[in-house]
Amino acid sequence: MVQGKKERVKEKSKQARKRLSSAGAVPGDLEERKKRIKEIIKILRKEYPQPKTALNYRTPFELLVATILAAQCTDERVNKVTPGLFQKYPTVEAMARARQEELENDIRSTGFFRNKARNIIGLANKLVSEYGGKVPDTMEELVKLPGVARKTANIVLSSAFRKAEGIAVDTHVRRLSERLGLSRQSDPDKIERDLMEIVPREDWLDFNFLLVDHGRKVCQARKPLCPQCVIKHLCPSFEKFSRLFSGRK
Ligand code: SF4
Repeated sequence: MVQGKKERVKEKSKQARKRLSSAGAVPGDLEERKKRIKEIIKILRKEYPQPKTALNYRTPFELLVATILAAQCTDERVNKVTPGLFQKYPTVEAMARARQEELENDIRSTGFFRNKARNIIGLANKLVSEYGGKVPDTMEELVKLPGVARKTANIVLSSAFRKAEGIAVDTHVRRLSERLGLSRQSDPDKIERDLMEIVPREDWLDFNFLLVDHGRKVCQARKPLCPQCVIKHLCPSFEKFSRLFSGRK
């Protein structure tokens, strides 16, 4: 059977993703990585002087909900949904009383809306019954809330409380950590452990946002813009990616 154009395009991008993900993920020794990451952070701080979440929020609770909604969804889409959502449910108590079906409709456009609605109502109830309606400010307590894993907890801790208990590993941090040779792991918790070993603690608060900014603007998933990358001299994937995208082998 002749393969359709759509299938061929799909297969091609699958192969490209495979080549991309395996390129250059060879970390040096610990001291080399520590030195390199310091330099990378210094340069990225100059390039992105205001590292912060792109999600709009006014309170820790709003950030917690927005971060849950942002799973498998863009921050832009979430920012379109949250103003109306927080007008409708202005407090933790109001969110705890939300009806599952109605909340599902309110957040439908962010995807995975059934799970997200269940988790948001569940965590709002837990916040009301166990924390007096307040969002706790420790990793230990946050990860006990429904739908909250370390990534979400790290975003809330760093942005809402300015507390550095870890490094949020999302899709950008995961991709860039591999390309930059900072971790060989694929499990987010293990990547986080690798990063916490080499990123200076004073940079933990901003590290996720620096990599997210760079990942969105330059080191994009499908076609990283390596020639114009400010950290290409510190990136073990640069040569390989340059060959890939210039058509040389
Ligand atoms: S050179 Fe820059 S854009 Fe290219 S893979 Fe490395 S970090 Fe990403």
